[in-house]
Amino acid sequence: MTTTKPEPRATFAIVTVVLPGPDRKRKPAPYQFNVTYRNPAPAEPGCVMTWVVTGGREDYQVAAERTDDGRVEWHCTCPDAIYHGTYRHAYRCKHLLGLQALMTSAGRAAA
Ligand SMILES: [Zn+2]
Repeated sequence: MTTTKPEPRATFAIVTVVLPGPDRKRKPAPYQFNVTYRNPAPAEPGCVMTWVVTGGREDYQVAAERTDDGRVEWHCTCPDAIYHGTYRHAYRCKHLLGLQALMTSAGRAAA
């Protein structure tokens, strides 16, 4: 006898976003965001979700972290984010911008 597991709603399992590419002309290129971790209790402080981004020069890790006061902080391992992250003003690299734009529009009906 076999049991069938109900398919989880994998809305964000893998998404492709077109971003300025890694070459000098920043020609738009597809980047894939692959969910590697999702916290079952996303409202709790701690790591909410992590992604691996492929399509650039290297693969990068993106993480969304819930702070104790309920805000979400974003992290990316790409050189842009690390360099600018030393400043207090949270810098958003293209990976974070693309991902956030995607999540903002996710609730709307697909055009
Ligand atoms: Zn980045």
